[in-house]
Amino acid sequence: MKIGFIGIGQMGRHMSRRILEAGYDLTIHDLKKEAAVPLLEKGAKWSNSPKEVAKSCELVFSSLPTPQNIEEMVYGDSGLSKGWKKGDIYVDMSTNSPSTIRKIAADAKKAGVTVLDAPVSGGTKGADAGTLAIMVGGDTAAMEKIRDVLLTMGKKIFPVGDAGCGNICKLVNNLISLACNSISAEGFVLGVKAGIDPQTLWEIVSMSTGNNWCMQQFPNTTFKGNFEPGFRVGLAYKDIGLALDLGKEYKVPLPVGETVKKDLQDTIAAGFIDKGVDAVILPLEKECGVKVRTL
Ligand code: NAD
Repeated sequence: MKIGFIGIGQMGRHMSRRILEAGYDLTIHDLKKEAAVPLLEKGAKWSNSPKEVAKSCELVFSSLPTPQNIEEMVYGDSGLSKGWKKGDIYVDMSTNSPSTIRKIAADAKKAGVTVLDAPVSGGTKGADAGTLAIMVGGDTAAMEKIRDVLLTMGKKIFPVGDAGCGNICKLVNNLISLACNSISAEGFVLGVKAGIDPQTLWEIVSMSTGNNWCMQQFPNTTFKGNFEPGFRVGLAYKDIGLALDLGKEYKVPLPVGETVKKDLQDTIAAGFIDKGVDAVILPLEKECGVKVRTL
């Protein structure tokens, strides 16, 4: 099976590498060719456009930042849809808008192409280790056909409904996780400002009811003053916006989500759009005159 992968970024470079290392014939494309160099050195082939990827592959994955990037990649003059063929499968692994995926899936169906959305959780570490959770929306027969390829990237595959449903699950997860990220930052600034040692506080919360995945990252990020991505603030802002849009679509009020959006907006305004998402603590640290560090 010839496989294409479009978007060789923080996530895509690991996911596509794992496909290649499993022995598949892999063709890659990114707007920036330099992103592809390590994989080309390992034997992947390069294509100049998504259209060329679609022409030469029967299964294509993408991992791109925003719904706009995905629409441009699919519908542009040299887009995927200009090259895809009857019987092909296209799997978008980005965190995307469910309505964008539904539209692409409906258009692709007219050309005999099956679209799955398969967003992932587990971060860049999970992508590197092939331990991602993969939430799959769309035709289950197509999903079964590519199960072995998905398992090169993830350890657990969840079929969750029609195309778009994968992203509904992913956006719910990120709504919860980004709220944990913001409240953990607030809690630690409060504790440290009030005189508690951050490491001691972390050990207490780790075995208490406030424990959460985001706070578990602190020893490698916040405590060391390491705010390199990982998962960029700009992408987190995109995800909270998509979750709030989903809330509007289904008429579900999300007041905590609105507050998280404001936190991310403040972090972007402070100049940290390309930092890792733990950087939401930085504006509050500045305001309060403390640093949550163990250095
Ligand atoms: P990234 O910005 O590091 O990488 C995206 C890549 O896509 C870049 O190399 C960029 O050049 C390329 N690209 C953009 N538009 C393109 C186009 N039209 N055609 C071809 N290439 C294009 O982003 P990332 O962190 O790898 O995230 C990718 C997706 O995965 C996002 O939707 C993100 O929300 C999601 N995600 C990220 C993480 C994480 O920890 N980074 C975790 C889970 C999910």
